[in-house]
Amino acid sequence: MSQASTVLRRCVSCRKVLDRQQLLKVTRDHQEGIVLQGGMGRSAYICPSEACLEDAWRRKRLQKALRCNVEFKVIDALQKQLNTCNDSYIEAI
Ligand SMILES: [Zn+2]
Repeated sequence: MSQASTVLRRCVSCRKVLDRQQLLKVTRDHQEGIVLQGGMGRSAYICPSEACLEDAWRRKRLQKALRCNVEFKVIDALQKQLNTCNDSYIEAI
């Protein structure tokens, strides 16, 4: 019996290693630029927590991981995803 493999990824902010499924993914897509939870290209992972998002923004963790400029709207969109994860849907993004 083979076990389902768990893909581990490191949060760019707190450096904790977690199951990929539990992290938010930010990808620098070749064509579309920064996309969340999809796209092709260099990716960074971050915990679904306010503290990690804030820290990532303040210390420019995503910029460094993705090697490009990351606008605040990306953090903002991630924060909205947190809210939809924690509670049941209130508004669609
Ligand atoms: Zn984290």
